[in-house]
Amino acid sequence: MAELFVVVNAGSSSIKFALHEIRAPFKARRRGLIEGIGTAPHLRLRDAKGETVMERRWPAEGFDHARAIAETMALGPELLNGATLLGAGHRVVHGGLDFAGPVRVTPAILDRLALLSPLAPLHQPHNLAPIRAIADLAPDLPQIACFDTGFHRSQAAVTQEFALPRRMTEAGIRRYGFHGLSYEYVATQLAALDPALAHGRVIVAHLGNGASLCAMRAGRSVASTMGFTAADGLMMGTRCGALDPGVLIHLMDTEGIDARALESLIYKESGLLGVSGISSDMRTLRASPDPHAAEAVALFVHRIIREIGSLAAALGGLDGLIFTAGIGENDVATRAEVSAGCAWLGLTLDGARNAAGGPRISADGARLSAWVVPTDEEGMIARHMAEVLG
Ligand code: ADP
Repeated sequence: MAELFVVVNAGSSSIKFALHEIRAPFKARRRGLIEGIGTAPHLRLRDAKGETVMERRWPAEGFDHARAIAETMALGPELLNGATLLGAGHRVVHGGLDFAGPVRVTPAILDRLALLSPLAPLHQPHNLAPIRAIADLAPDLPQIACFDTGFHRSQAAVTQEFALPRRMTEAGIRRYGFHGLSYEYVATQLAALDPALAHGRVIVAHLGNGASLCAMRAGRSVASTMGFTAADGLMMGTRCGALDPGVLIHLMDTEGIDARALESLIYKESGLLGVSGISSDMRTLRASPDPHAAEAVALFVHRIIREIGSLAAALGGLDGLIFTAGIGENDVATRAEVSAGCAWLGLTLDGARNAAGGPRISADGARLSAWVVPTDEEGMIARHMAEVLG
């Protein structure tokens, strides 16, 4: 009988899950998405080809994350299609300083992870809710937590610090970095594509709705653009990225806005959406004739080029640039524009290879090679589960 892992990625109003094979290449057999938690809960399950194989709707009343898990587990036999479930793996945004790698969740570890919620209030409580719900309903099912911050714990102390009074650093106000599961996955893929480059100095550009860069040496994180929160660094779909902190103080003084309004401003109303006034979606902006759409895209690209320069300095030079996630994997123009801004680092793109989507998109003989490597955060979690559970 087939054996599967379930990988869970829970956000504020949605829960994504995927049923993965337990051996390499850890293929996803089925993917589920529960959307509209709090408004109009709806489950859609797709098979490996992307065909919808099941749909369910529930009344919004009382339908929270725990209920979503309970309802999904009640569908268990139908979802599993005869397979046995061997474990649940969870994407958890914050592992703090203690959790550098995946961990099997116990009640004590769950309590420690809950203590990190103030560091990621928009994500951590939602990530932990399904772990609790599964522990209540199936206490014997092994559960593994994998962290977005974990991959960056290899960074030097100086890279992880802000220039704030020491007591604040000691209280945990420091640069953690995120998108770690994506970077780790890309690093494993690169090791197969170009082993020599995988041992060199590489910048990975994870460009999706959330966007960040990671500088790696020999596959380990040396620096990244995201910091204390996932709001720092690059411009994103709806997040502004790095912002002079004086702007926030000015807005509090002149517009009298509070922390919640600032949070909404920097996480939800800025970035591609805020600058264009049209959309947070790169496809929409690329197709729009509105000059504000072009301006938003130009700023997005400019910020990436600037930060690549910063990370190349942190690495003391650069051997490879890798594009991944929705925009990085699909937007030929963004790759071309960012690469043009990296000509000074020795990057020459091969237009035909770029249009074809890689994997290698730099011209033969270019000093800096460029690549497209599709990411798979859920697959990385499945891989970790196999390691942790032996
Ligand atoms: P998330 O961070 O939510 O996982 P994704 O990695 O799915 O986001 O990336 C979403 C972004 O990728 C959107 O801006 C979307 O427009 C962009 N994208 C997806 N497909 C394409 C495409 N074919 N061409 C250009 N952009 C694309």
